[in-house]
Amino acid sequence: MRNLVWHIFLCVALAASAWASNKVDAEQVAKEHKASFHWFPVQKTFLLAGESDTLKFAIGLPYVNSHGNSVELKHAPEIADGHILLDSADVVSLYKTDKTAAVSPASSSSAAKVSSSSAKAAAVPAATPTAKPKNETAGTREVKTIVIDPGHGGKDTGAQGKNSNEKDIVLAVGKLLKKELEKEGFNVKMTRDKDVFIELGERANLANQWDGDLFISLHCNAIDATPERKKQIKGYHVYVLRAPESEEDKAIARRENKVATLYGEKNAKEELSPIEWFKLEARLEKYKQNSYMFTEEMLKAFDGGKIKRQGGGVGGAGFMVLVGALMPAVLFEIGFISNPEEEAYMTTTKAQEDIAARVAKAVSTYKAAVHNYRETLGR
Ligand SMILES: [Zn+2]
Repeated sequence: MRNLVWHIFLCVALAASAWASNKVDAEQVAKEHKASFHWFPVQKTFLLAGESDTLKFAIGLPYVNSHGNSVELKHAPEIADGHILLDSADVVSLYKTDKTAAVSPASSSSAAKVSSSSAKAAAVPAATPTAKPKNETAGTREVKTIVIDPGHGGKDTGAQGKNSNEKDIVLAVGKLLKKELEKEGFNVKMTRDKDVFIELGERANLANQWDGDLFISLHCNAIDATPERKKQIKGYHVYVLRAPESEEDKAIARRENKVATLYGEKNAKEELSPIEWFKLEARLEKYKQNSYMFTEEMLKAFDGGKIKRQGGGVGGAGFMVLVGALMPAVLFEIGFISNPEEEAYMTTTKAQEDIAARVAKAVSTYKAAVHNYRETLGR
């Protein structure tokens, strides 16, 4: 009997030590694989920046972002006694597929870039200088196909003003924008060109089928408030898909996403969870810089227009319509339909023409910026 007890004890002890030995210190892993290690305590994320790839992990999430993809891990990274631990089997499989993860001193600065670029707009598009033209994707190749997505439609009116519906204003602007862009020689697709209902996920699917270079989702903003406040809140806003930094931006995404839950769309949700954001991040990284480039051009094009910026004019939030688009993408809130002055303005043909012309100008200058950037890379 005593032997049996000892036997069980030994087995448990062995199993425990085997478990313990399955965990490896992430900083040690970085050293062994000549990668630099970066820890971001606020987000509880860390990077192992190697020469050919930067692996991004988050404490408690069983995923790693690698080469623009989100890869599932056997075990989520954890913190114990001040050490960041990875599962050794995960480390083996990650570095087995990437033998060239050795790192040069320069890569630590590229890792630093990853962290700072999430905080501010980058000036150049995300392009891999070594990529062959045939591998070029939206964002790195010349800009040709523009996908216009007039929000809402059909049974979904979008936000309602005193005398108008969001769905009608954005469709009118979208059609005029198509005309303008075609004059400039762009190949233009519209997710809808009449008053029909299309699910949010389907809009991104269409854009991907058309292999678009830029996705522009058109909307009108609105607030639910007293008449006084409605008179105060106005202006346009350009949104990119990124973790929201303010409650206001979060609320706008919830309102725009509501249609999906309202009409029973599959996988519908009003907000993205932290794990969904993390899984998306690698892919977003691919298009983020171009989305910001276009946003900059939008701000320039709308300078001097009747509708002014609301605040800085730029924001980020989890818009479901942008989640599936595999290309640089923005959601443009043209103005506030809840503001009497802006509603009256946005419903006139003259205003719609001016707005369309300004967006078209931003598309043209964005195209030129991408072209110039490609030239500096010798493409
Ligand atoms: Zn909308």
